[in-house]
Amino acid sequence: MIFKVFKKQELARLHELLAVNIIVGPVARGNDRNGKPLYDFDVIYDFAELALDYTQTVHSPKRFVLPYHETLSTFTTSHDGWEKHVDLNVYRPLVFFGMHACDINALNKLDLILAQSTYPNPYYMGKRKNLFIIGLDCNPEPQCFCRSMGTDSAIHGFDLFLTDLGGKYFAEILSATAFDLLSQINCKEPSAKDHSLYKHVTHEKSTHYTATVDTSDLTKILDLEFESKAWDYWGEKCFSCGTCANVCPTCYCYGVEEQVDLDLKHASKEKSLHSCNLIDFAKVAGGHNFRPTSASRLKYRYYHKHRGFVEAFEESLCVGCGRCGAACLADITPPAVIASVRGKE
Ligand code: SF4
Ligand code: SF4
Repeated sequence: MIFKVFKKQELARLHELLAVNIIVGPVARGNDRNGKPLYDFDVIYDFAELALDYTQTVHSPKRFVLPYHETLSTFTTSHDGWEKHVDLNVYRPLVFFGMHACDINALNKLDLILAQSTYPNPYYMGKRKNLFIIGLDCNPEPQCFCRSMGTDSAIHGFDLFLTDLGGKYFAEILSATAFDLLSQINCKEPSAKDHSLYKHVTHEKSTHYTATVDTSDLTKILDLEFESKAWDYWGEKCFSCGTCANVCPTCYCYGVEEQVDLDLKHASKEKSLHSCNLIDFAKVAGGHNFRPTSASRLKYRYYHKHRGFVEAFEESLCVGCGRCGAACLADITPPAVIASVRGKE
C-alpha cells in the first residue's frame, strides 16, 4: 500500500477532478425524533453537499450495486416470434465519496457471494466493477460493534482511504487510478510525525466502542442453541417488518416476479430485494410456509449471518454496523440477541 498526506482543502480539488462521473456521498437528511441528525447516501452535485463528518447513514451503500428493485429482462412478442432484451443497468462510473470501513467490508462480503461464488450475478458485478471508492475513517456510534466483527478497518475493496489527522488527510492508496488522481493535487510523502499521528488517531478510535458482540465459538454456540427459548423471546417482540434487512449492508436475498402485459406483447422479469423476516419469505407453491413464526424467521436471519455464511466463507455476513438495531422498532439488536442466546442475559 502507498501512503500520502494532503491538506484538507485539497479534497475539493479531488472532488472537482472526479466530477465528470456520478458522485455519491453522505448527505444530511433532517433529524430523527430526538433531534439527532440523520444522514443518507445520495448523488451529489456540489462538494458543499457532502457531509463528511457524518456519523452513520440510515441506509447502506448497497442500493447502488444491489437496487431494491431492478428489471432483469424484458420480452416482446411479434408475429415472427419473441425477443429478449437484457440490460445490466450499468451506466457511467460511480464514485463513492466517503464510505466508512464497515460499508467497504460489507461490499467485500457481498462480492464473496455475488461476484466470486459458483453463480456470479452479472447485474451486481457490472455495477460493482464500475465503482471508485474513497473510504473515510469514522468515529464509532453507540450501536457500532464492527470492532467485534473485525470490520472496523478496511484493507481492500477501496481505491483510496482517508483518515482525518486534523488539518490534513492521511491517504492509503490501493489503485493506480487513485495514485494518478493524487498526483494531480498537492500531496506529499507522510513524515514520521504523520505516521505517529495516524497511529494515535486509530488507537483513539479503538477506545470509543461501547457495543460489543462475543463472537468466540459463535457458530458452535448457535448449533448448540438451535432450540433455545431465546429465539421465542425475540420472535415475540419482532414485528416481521423487514426493516433490518432493508437497512443492512449485507442482506441480499431477493425474489423475482414475471409480469406480462394484458395484450401479451410485452413481459418483464422484475427483481426485488426481500427479507427473511417477512411472513411470506419461505412460503412455497401450494401455500406451505417453512418458517411460519416470527421466531423461526428471526432465528434464520441470525443463522445465515453468523453460522451458514461462516461455514461457507470463514467469515460472518455481519459487519457490526448496528443499523438493524438502530432501525428496529422492537429494539432487537444483534449484541442483545447474541448475548441472550449465549445465556449471558
Ligand atoms: S427484527 Fe426488528 S426490524 Fe427486523 S423484522 Fe423484526 S421488528 Fe422488524
Ligand atoms: S446484521 Fe445488522 S449489524 Fe450486522 S451488518 Fe446487517 S445491519 Fe449491520
